[in-house]
Amino acid sequence: ALCLSQDFDFFYFVQQWPGAYCDTKHSCCYPKTGKPIADFGIHGLWPNYKDGGYPSDCDPDSRFDKSEISDLIGRLEKEWPTLSCPSNDGTKFWTHEWVKHGTCSESELGQREYFEAALKLKEKANLLRALTNAGIKPNDECYELQDIKDAIKEAVGFTPGIECNVDSSHNSQLYQVYLCVETSGTDFVECPLLQRFKCGSSIQFPKF
Ligand code: 5GP
Ligand code: 5GP
Ligand code: 5GP
Repeated sequence: ALCLSQDFDFFYFVQQWPGAYCDTKHSCCYPKTGKPIADFGIHGLWPNYKDGGYPSDCDPDSRFDKSEISDLIGRLEKEWPTLSCPSNDGTKFWTHEWVKHGTCSESELGQREYFEAALKLKEKANLLRALTNAGIKPNDECYELQDIKDAIKEAVGFTPGIECNVDSSHNSQLYQVYLCVETSGTDFVECPLLQRFKCGSSIQFPKF
């Protein structure tokens, strides 16, 4: 790993709301394994620098090896479902995330550890429960961006970044939630920086 070791400062752990992904211009396709449950899904665990830049595709020699994580596939299908078209079983999405991002934290986490870390982080940050407990539900209603951030901070302990997208009727919608994680991939930390994502002060939480 000598030549591969790539420094980074922290991870973004990014979860996506499927209802918002499916409402955009790209539309979406359900995975071959069926419509995902109405929950946030993992998008990725992304090594990042404190200045906002990030490494990508760090190890051309590393391939995604499904056999290393064969016993995690059931959990990945549930917690890290793919919504892109054409419909597939998720392997393409996991491969893309590993090759683009996971290979940049290989100094800290091997492939199996990387996927296990992401699954554990999702257990620790149950966003839907955090929001529901605060009365914020995926029912096509609009909520204050600040209330969404406060509910997640209350449950997880750290302030999230919220990314919105715009649906066909120009509503600003809750799309992705960014939390930061220290380099071992275990504990959440306050984000060294969060991009300013284009959200209105009141955003829609779409049904899925
Ligand atoms: P987009 O252009 O949709 O914001 O991002 C496209 C892709 O770039 C993401 O799926 C992700 O792989 C990568 N990306 C975007 N923003 C960030 C970031 O702040 N940090 C890292 N590490 N990757 C990012
Ligand atoms: P943007 O036009 O939003 O700056 O970036 C477009 C795409 O460039 C993003 O989707 C992302 O994939 C890539 N990108 C932006 N910043 C970085 C960076 O610091 N490192 C890498 N590897 N890609 C970046
Ligand atoms: P990123 O490069 O932004 O980490 O990941 C985006 C890439 O993953 C795109 O090529 C996209 O087509 C693919 N992808 C597959 N399934 C999904 C999904 O469910 N959500 C998102 N955001 N991207 C997905």
